[in-house]
Amino acid sequence: MIEVANPRTGAVDYRFDAVDEAGLSKLAARLRAAQGQWAARTIEDRCEALLGWADSIDRHKDAIAAALETDTGRRRIARLEVEGAIASIRGWAAGAPHLLPQPQWAEGRMNPAIRHQAQDVPYALTGVISPWNFPLTLSLIDTIPALIAGSAVIVKPSEVTPRFAEPLGAAIAEAGLSDLLAFAPGDGATGAALVDQVDVVCFTGSVPTGKKVAVRAAGRLIPAFLELGGKDPLIILESADMDRAVTAALRGSVLSTGQACQSIERIYVARAIYPDFLDRLVTAAEAVRFNWPDINSGELGPMIFARQADIIAGQLEDAVARGAKVLTGGKIDRHGGGYWIAPTVLTDVTHDMAIIRDETFGPILPVMAFDSVEEAVRLANDTVYGLSAAVIAGTIEEAEGVGRQLDAGAVTLNDAALTALFHEAEKQSFKQSGLGPSRMGAAGLLRFYRRKALIAQTGAPAPLSAFSEG
Ligand code: NAD
Repeated sequence: MIEVANPRTGAVDYRFDAVDEAGLSKLAARLRAAQGQWAARTIEDRCEALLGWADSIDRHKDAIAAALETDTGRRRIARLEVEGAIASIRGWAAGAPHLLPQPQWAEGRMNPAIRHQAQDVPYALTGVISPWNFPLTLSLIDTIPALIAGSAVIVKPSEVTPRFAEPLGAAIAEAGLSDLLAFAPGDGATGAALVDQVDVVCFTGSVPTGKKVAVRAAGRLIPAFLELGGKDPLIILESADMDRAVTAALRGSVLSTGQACQSIERIYVARAIYPDFLDRLVTAAEAVRFNWPDINSGELGPMIFARQADIIAGQLEDAVARGAKVLTGGKIDRHGGGYWIAPTVLTDVTHDMAIIRDETFGPILPVMAFDSVEEAVRLANDTVYGLSAAVIAGTIEEAEGVGRQLDAGAVTLNDAALTALFHEAEKQSFKQSGLGPSRMGAAGLLRFYRRKALIAQTGAPAPLSAFSEG
């Protein structure tokens, strides 16, 4: 029995039994048995079935949003996750049928009598392992295109935020998809066992766990698509509009209490505008309120995972001990049994501090001044991560010039963390932030197919004598 704490109260208010190896193996067999017929349907047909699922999620949206609210301690974002899931299914259903090339025979270049045609064959069973920060969004982001491709899917949601899976399961059953999509609740042991059952695994989570999943997948020679952590930099050039810079920096860093992989975690500002930027950032940060005691107020929820508060406190302590100055925030607040962290602006930080090197996953804004664009680019790229980054300048062209030099899979120009709000652009995760094709755009669907070649001899087969040595 796994116990789950409520992030707003700290009290254990949910318990569940983890699916074990035997349970997973039974589940996998049931889904595999149904997958053949699913894959044999046309892509338009599968999209139609998924549109039915979007409608059933819509009918169950209050129950799903309520469970997500308890999982995460936030109301508005919980609702946005549900609306986003419905929109994502409808968007994929509208676009996916146009993404696959129409199969046709092509004549060989050397021998036109030999023709070939491609068949795109989906992986039979996809495993999805998701984290706690956006429990619904990150459980479905790979699931939707995998199902459309013709795969069956087992999702292992985070043990920290498992409540939403029950009401979502009712919507899956109502749409008649229970034999193709199943949730297998559990902790890391269930996640590891899932890797042993599937033909491809999509993992979203931390770098250390991602590496374990990659090793286990490698042992079975199955692909692992990994979407891992980040330490996203924001560069603010001297020409930047100050209001834009402050608005984007604050929202990009503290939205979802900073519990987002694409959060801005380091800010580099041109020295000429550094004092003014800091003043304005501190004023803006101090106006941010918790959604406590009323969940219908404020902008920041609690830390979803209590242990994350310890990590953040440790990084802050280390930074201050090494000379960092806290201009606002800087401490963990306890309200109602939960852990809350106000937006925290830090200066006098250096690249040997954990708060600049390691993922923080909280509403923390360490700010450094730079003297040249070269220095800003060097500092921004001085990281093992390469998830995303942002540049703000007076013009898009100037921001683009710097963005092209950043070693990250997505760069937002003249805003921050746009990958949270815009899912159409293909992007890969660079360096330790991940592995595999883009989960966004056309590649998000195409990565669930293997390409098979049908090669037809329309002439006479070559006799062995054609290869005779004599
Ligand atoms: P985590 O790595 O601790 O856990 C993620 C999932 O892996 C959970 O479901 C967990 O039960 C499971 N798991 C644990 N051990 C496992 C094992 N040995 N084998 C298989 N599965 C196992 O991550 P988290 O703390 O839940 O999430 C936060 C992390 O996720 C952050 O690092 C964040 O940056 C990252 N993240 C990345 C993206 C992205 O798109 N790149 C998006 C959101 C979050």
